[in-house]
Amino acid sequence: MPIETTHTSPNELGHQIDVLDPRNGRKISEVPVTSPEQLNLMLDQSTVVQSEWAVRTLKERVQVFFQLRNLLASNAEELAQIICSENGKTHGEGMAEVNKAMELCEFACSLPQIIHDEVQEVSRGVECRTSRQPRGIVACITPFNFPLMVPMWSLPNALALGNAVFLKPSEQTPLTAVRLQSLMHEAGLPRGLLQIVQGGKDLVEKLCDCPSIDALSFVGSTKIAALVYRRATSNLKNCIALGGAKNHLIVLPDADEEVTAANIAAAMSGCAGQRCMAASAMVAVGNVDHIVHKIVQEAEKITPGAEIGAVISAEAKARIERYITDAVRSGAQLLLDGRNPEVANGEGGFYVGPTVLDHVRPDMKIAQEEVFGPVLAIMRSPDVDQAIAIENASNYGNASSVFTQNGAWANYVADRVSVGMVGVNIGVPVPREPFSFGGWNESKFGTCDITGKSSIHFWTRLKKRTTKWNASDWQDWTS
Ligand code: NAD
Repeated sequence: MPIETTHTSPNELGHQIDVLDPRNGRKISEVPVTSPEQLNLMLDQSTVVQSEWAVRTLKERVQVFFQLRNLLASNAEELAQIICSENGKTHGEGMAEVNKAMELCEFACSLPQIIHDEVQEVSRGVECRTSRQPRGIVACITPFNFPLMVPMWSLPNALALGNAVFLKPSEQTPLTAVRLQSLMHEAGLPRGLLQIVQGGKDLVEKLCDCPSIDALSFVGSTKIAALVYRRATSNLKNCIALGGAKNHLIVLPDADEEVTAANIAAAMSGCAGQRCMAASAMVAVGNVDHIVHKIVQEAEKITPGAEIGAVISAEAKARIERYITDAVRSGAQLLLDGRNPEVANGEGGFYVGPTVLDHVRPDMKIAQEEVFGPVLAIMRSPDVDQAIAIENASNYGNASSVFTQNGAWANYVADRVSVGMVGVNIGVPVPREPFSFGGWNESKFGTCDITGKSSIHFWTRLKKRTTKWNASDWQDWTS
């Protein structure tokens, strides 16, 4: 029997958080909410452990992540199952998260090869050098959509660089983080360096206000990212806050029909459209009807419950379906309707199938807001400049892709779109390690990116040391 309650609103949390399996709506677990007293005890413990961790060399600290990388590989199946059961993903998507987590670990292992202090003799006998030092205790607040990968954007680098980390996973997907913590301990991470805290809004506010936390990374929706960024920085903390997205795909008439349709169908429906990199709005330039037709054909082949998982909650399903209904009422043409799909063995689950809407106008809600479901809104444009203008009118700026076989046009678009990550003939242009991940505009607040080399600056402070040895004071030790 599916249970009535679904996503618990963060400010309605009691002492326990119920965890549901979105594939059938059933309760699978519950986790206790971290109390303020427990948080204080954890902070005391971490302060002591972090000061010992910070004096180890970087090379020593990264040994944990060589071990963790292999533990992720040997426990991949179990991790994927936890991810799928609390998030609703397909097995393949769960495994992809584990693979990405391994890659993020590998980057942390390479930090000693990347970080080099700068040294220069600035005048005769006087040397200046820099070193990167840990910040101390830091916090990471993560969303539901990638319960393993998003925490792993921050944890390996922050820990390897000498910090202690408080991870607060989404209250909708709190279980993967607990298993990750146990694997970190098995890999040799001293206890107290990674603390998992569970809760919602109240706990996030405590982390933002806590004087002993020096830096905070946040990933979630733009509205909350802005709140968290303001609160953390007003408390003089370093903060990076990644927000939501409305990713556009600009399709030119010369685009390869097969490649473009396959990429777009996968990019709009992968992870049930609950990716901050999901293809959400397509701008068709000129006559690309043959490609639109092919996208629908490809999307029709994606079966809910098999190739596409469940969305996170009953509220999410209702919200996505409302967007579709509103768009049709506003005049969009429904080419493929994913509302209330038939799903084999999916009784009680929160499923939405791939949905394609054509002739969407840029002023419609579905063209402007993040739907966070497997829905593609197609707008029409007579030329490339207007297509770019439609895209750049968005407040977001996470990712964008252009589909064309003409390199000059690809560069023209890539140079002009106001986003942090651009793809050419790629539906989901996630930069691979060591390139950093981060959007622009209202998709990210803060200066650094969350992964890659850019994150080194975020998780450390730069110390500048000037040294002078006075030759006249030298003693002749050989006499
Ligand atoms: P969310 O903003 O609802 O929640 C994110 C985190 O904030 C959770 O840990 C939650 O407990 C906490 N939170 C919720 N309400 C809060 C409040 N009022 N005050 C303080 N904290 C609060 O996001 P979500 O629904 O879990 O995740 C989906 C969103 O995350 C989408 O908008 C998606 O685009 C975004 N996202 C962005 C990226 C990126 O890289 N830009 C990556 C993944 C997800």
